[in-house]
Amino acid sequence: MVPGIHRPAVVKVNLGAIKRNLENEMEHLEPGQKMLAVVKANGYGHGAVEVARVADKVGAAGFCVAILDEALELRRADIIKPILVLGVVSPEYAPIAAVNNVSLTVPNLEWLKEAEKYLKDANLQLKIHLGIDSGMGRIGFNEDADFIAANEFLENNDNFFIEGMFAHFASADSSDETYFKHQCEKFNHMKSLLTVKPKWIHVDNTAASIFHDGIKSDLVRFGIGIYGLNPSSTPNSQDLKSNIQLEPALSFESELTHVKTIHQGDGVGYGSTFVADEDTIIGTVPVGYADGFIRKFQGFKVKVGDTYCPIVGRICMDQFMVKMPKKMPVGTKVTIISSNPNDQNNIKAAADYVDTIHYEVACLLNDRLPRVYYEK
Ligand SMILES: *Cc1c(COP(=O)(O)O)cnc(C)c1O
Repeated sequence: MVPGIHRPAVVKVNLGAIKRNLENEMEHLEPGQKMLAVVKANGYGHGAVEVARVADKVGAAGFCVAILDEALELRRADIIKPILVLGVVSPEYAPIAAVNNVSLTVPNLEWLKEAEKYLKDANLQLKIHLGIDSGMGRIGFNEDADFIAANEFLENNDNFFIEGMFAHFASADSSDETYFKHQCEKFNHMKSLLTVKPKWIHVDNTAASIFHDGIKSDLVRFGIGIYGLNPSSTPNSQDLKSNIQLEPALSFESELTHVKTIHQGDGVGYGSTFVADEDTIIGTVPVGYADGFIRKFQGFKVKVGDTYCPIVGRICMDQFMVKMPKKMPVGTKVTIISSNPNDQNNIKAAADYVDTIHYEVACLLNDRLPRVYYEK
């Protein structure tokens, strides 16, 4: 989708907040521990390259992304520190990763054997992290035999450099630690089977790092915390208390493009789900579900000028309408999602409203909305 640069609708990102969140986590790291800044999915919608540059300056040891293309985007932007792809990359692309100094996750023994063929042909060495499925149930080794065989396969194998071994927690953001502990035990067991020596052994995501002390993890894969959001947030929950300060960076802003009064019996939007029962002032905002602002937001209150106004009628593909208590001029600022956690339309409130998590709301906002950066 082309970014709409001639339309007043943008995602604003406060790089000052991003910097402080990263600095707070750097200070919170245990002695010797390093940080990989997770900038997958375009930096959780905030802009991967811009966020990575800040993380680079603040002292991150490297970066994590989800797919190979995201790693290549960072390399094209002249980012030279280590980059780990967390998802499974097809073995045929192992040479592309190797040439670009990108580290890949090994999901199982079969993958290693396949990747070796491509690397041998090209006479290349690939940096790898052994993925362990300690209970996330997603990717990685979960059987002893397969893992032992992979270790044997890697001993004296010049096509691979074993940069890491890692697992991912399914519930580090929960106050119930039962499953978290189970995952730690499973990971420690797999670690005891190692016969090769990964440079970094790591399990921490944001939640593990800021809610749990004393887990041995050489690296913290710091994701949602960069963006100032609390990882424990589930719909309509109270967040767990973070032991570092987090400051949201993202706001979503537009303007009124049209204002009018409608009269009793007049409908608004497809299906006329709102019908005026008296003279009603309606404002139109040039944002819709094609921007990732999904129809479920109907009824959510956005800030028009200083006034919270409900979205009335169905959200269209490219526009939505609000009901206003008084006339305000075309061009009045509309804050759809506020970066101020004290505002009723903060990102957590928006996520609660559509029964999801703020991670998803941030990722939904797509590239038709230009990202605008500022530092405050
Ligand atoms: C996304 C991801 C992270 C970062 O998680 P946050 O909750 O955003 O800190 C870390 N590790 C893996 C494997 C991931 O997929």
